[in-house]
Amino acid sequence: MPDYNRKATFYWWLVVICGGLILVHCAHQLAPMSDTVWLQIVLGTSMAMIAGLMPVRVAGSTNSFTAGEIFIFLLLLLHGPAAAAVASALEALVGACRTSKRWTSRIASPAMAAIAMFGTGSLLQAGLDLGAKDGLTADLLTLLGAIAFAIAYFMANTVLVTMVPRLKRNEPLRLRDFFGSFGWLGVAYAGNASVAAFLFLNMKQSGVVAVIAAVPIIAILLTSGHFFFRREEAAESVRKANDAKAEQAARHVLELESSERRFHSAFTHASIGMALVSFNGTILQANQSLRTLLGLPEADPHSLLLRSYLAPESIAILDAELERVRDGQRQVRGVELLCRHQNGSDVWMAIHCGSFAEPGSGEPCFILQMHDVSARRRAESELQHIAFHDNLTGLPNRHRFHEHLASAIEFASGNPGSRPFGVLFLDLDRFKLINDSMGHSAGDAFLQAAALRITRVVRPSDVVARLGGDEFAILARDGIDEAGLRELANRLQLALREPMHIDGVEISATASIGITMSSIGYQSPEEVLRDADTAMYKAKASGKARFEVFDVSLHAQVANRLVLEADLRRALAEEKLTIQYQPLIDMKSGALVGFEALARWHHPTLGHVSPALFIPVAEESGSIIQLTDFILRRACRQLAKWQARNPRFAELTMHVNVAGNDLASGNFVQRVSDAVMGARLRAGHLTIELTENILMERLEAAKMLLDQLHELGVGLSVDDFGTGYSSLSHLSNLPIDSLKIDRSFVENLAADSKEAAVIRAIVLLGHSLDKQVVAEGIETQDQLAQLRELGCDVAQGYLISRPLDEAAVDSFLDRLLRRSGEAATNVIDIRSRATFVG
Ligand code: C2E
Ligand code: MG
Ligand code: MG
Repeated sequence: MPDYNRKATFYWWLVVICGGLILVHCAHQLAPMSDTVWLQIVLGTSMAMIAGLMPVRVAGSTNSFTAGEIFIFLLLLLHGPAAAAVASALEALVGACRTSKRWTSRIASPAMAAIAMFGTGSLLQAGLDLGAKDGLTADLLTLLGAIAFAIAYFMANTVLVTMVPRLKRNEPLRLRDFFGSFGWLGVAYAGNASVAAFLFLNMKQSGVVAVIAAVPIIAILLTSGHFFFRREEAAESVRKANDAKAEQAARHVLELESSERRFHSAFTHASIGMALVSFNGTILQANQSLRTLLGLPEADPHSLLLRSYLAPESIAILDAELERVRDGQRQVRGVELLCRHQNGSDVWMAIHCGSFAEPGSGEPCFILQMHDVSARRRAESELQHIAFHDNLTGLPNRHRFHEHLASAIEFASGNPGSRPFGVLFLDLDRFKLINDSMGHSAGDAFLQAAALRITRVVRPSDVVARLGGDEFAILARDGIDEAGLRELANRLQLALREPMHIDGVEISATASIGITMSSIGYQSPEEVLRDADTAMYKAKASGKARFEVFDVSLHAQVANRLVLEADLRRALAEEKLTIQYQPLIDMKSGALVGFEALARWHHPTLGHVSPALFIPVAEESGSIIQLTDFILRRACRQLAKWQARNPRFAELTMHVNVAGNDLASGNFVQRVSDAVMGARLRAGHLTIELTENILMERLEAAKMLLDQLHELGVGLSVDDFGTGYSSLSHLSNLPIDSLKIDRSFVENLAADSKEAAVIRAIVLLGHSLDKQVVAEGIETQDQLAQLRELGCDVAQGYLISRPLDEAAVDSFLDRLLRRSGEAATNVIDIRSRATFVG
């Protein structure tokens, strides 16, 4: 009893036990009956059971009745409720087996039928017995009694049966349960009862023959009724199924119509662009939004091809997408395509595509939903631009440059025979100076102007980027070789040198450029930039305004700066550094006036390391103070020795270079004074050389310091003059004794050249401020003659002498001493251009 609750279970048991007891009681009552009676009971019961197999369904309901009731009612009238109860129980068993698979129903139904029949049958019998006593006509009474009984029986049975589901659902029994399903079924019962009463009465008059004669008639009537109703039922269910189908089809058509209406309305009034496009790409229909988006003609755009409104690069993407949809791939992906408006402007569209067949027409086509994503794409590309570009110059930034470089490296390594590329690392030489002295807006303008110059020089396929500050990088592609890169670097220098007008001031820029090439076999952008930077650093250190090409030996020299720093510190501690002295001569007489002390370092494994390399290392690692002190002391002592050799050398001077960090050291004046005193030198015989850049970078601090040095009597010279950005007002305020024109001007000196004009201006400026003008880097007689003509006072350069070590200076001085007369200290005969020593 899976779905029976406690009440229903109790009720079931009650019914089954009562029914069972009643049937036992009936069997007990029937036992003494005669054989004839038993035969009638068996026959009647059998008829009832057979008839139970052929129920007649009541029209319009799920209920049915059988002709079996006629025989049961007849048995009731003939032999009393006991016989009828047994027959009805057996007939109910047949019915339950036919209609239900549940054993609970198959047991309970016969029990209920037995209870209902025994109860109502006993009442009928009592009623008929009572009626007979009242003297009413027996036949009419029998008929009416049978009808009343049938109704009572039907109701009793109905209630007993209905109780089960009510109890299961915990619902109270309602009055409707007694009459609810009455109607035709009740009438059928009443009819059966009438027939039974009629047979009973006939039997009483004509004997059992009347019943036997009536049985086939009843059987035929009921059988044909059964089959007629079965057929009707089948026809009815077919009709119902057809009706349902027709109703569904009608509903479907209505739905289709309304969905089509909805679709058309959605299509026409949609705020996004929509189009139906044939499989060959022709626009079949376009809504108003799409017409506006693409500027399609108002008339039906039938003969237009969708791809004629696409940018060339988008056509293949659309074709692939349409093919995907045509192949039945339903997954909606969507693509973004660049479209062309009729007026030529670009429109970015997000396009979703599906296949579509208009109901009825059967011809499939594409349905495209397109919406304008131009604003988003613009914002994205702006963001992208901001992320990858420098906003001052508009050039790609370091990040972007890295990407370009990475793809160039990847291409080169994937295609061994591919065209080489080169990278130029460019650092503007005077940016800091301009920024500090003229202000940031001038600095920005300078950078912008420089960026413009650089981009004008390179080829369209090259990438120029601003890496930060005053650093730029150029990726030169398309198979450029070393000669090409050198030429490019020269062109860049020339372009930058062209005067720029910043805040009304004419500025000529120079840059230190480091070059490296893909032939080295780089694996990462970092490596390329590191080497180009190294080469740039070397260019800067060897006097700026020049370029250096990276080679592996350079890498070996500087790759491991930390090792170099440690080596330098050790060399200083062990006093392994040496000094070379380069003579300076008087331009008018050719007489030796002094020397410039130049530091030299012979590295145990690297060999000669240029001061251009190790001086910055010393500055950065903090050992410059020690280095300067060493040079100062040694050079001063050496000069004192040379001065002491002969009175003719008593006025020789020593020029010593100092670094920016020396000035910042706090006790610089003290250190200089100690060196001079330690060597017992007159302070006036020492000249401190400070590069123009150092001076300008630390102008405020330098001023006080220079005043103190001046007071001490030490000479001051501005080295590499012309490469920095000194203003006249600054120079006139500083206690400077000489200006040393940068080697780059001398190098490119030619009659009527720009360099000649610059030198003439420097000489004019220097002399007007009562300062000597020194020219360094003189390598040719022509340069010497021109510089003399331009009015320079002192000369220095390989033409006169290369830097010499102590011993070489000794023999140099010896040779001078061997000469006699007034011009005994003359190194060179200016007029005859003959060099006497060197
Ligand atoms: P600088 O002070 O301008 O020194 C002149 C440089 O030009 C020297 O290079 C010298 O050898 C080179 N030179 C002289 N005449 C000629 C010539 O006719 N042609 C060419 N091509 N070069 C010539 P060096 O010795 O390599 O020194 C480079 C720079 O290193 C120096 O430039 C100076 O700024 C720095 N330096 C050298 N020694 C010291 C030092 O002891 N202390 C500091 N702080 N800096 C030093
Ligand atoms: Mg110098
Ligand atoms: Mg110099």
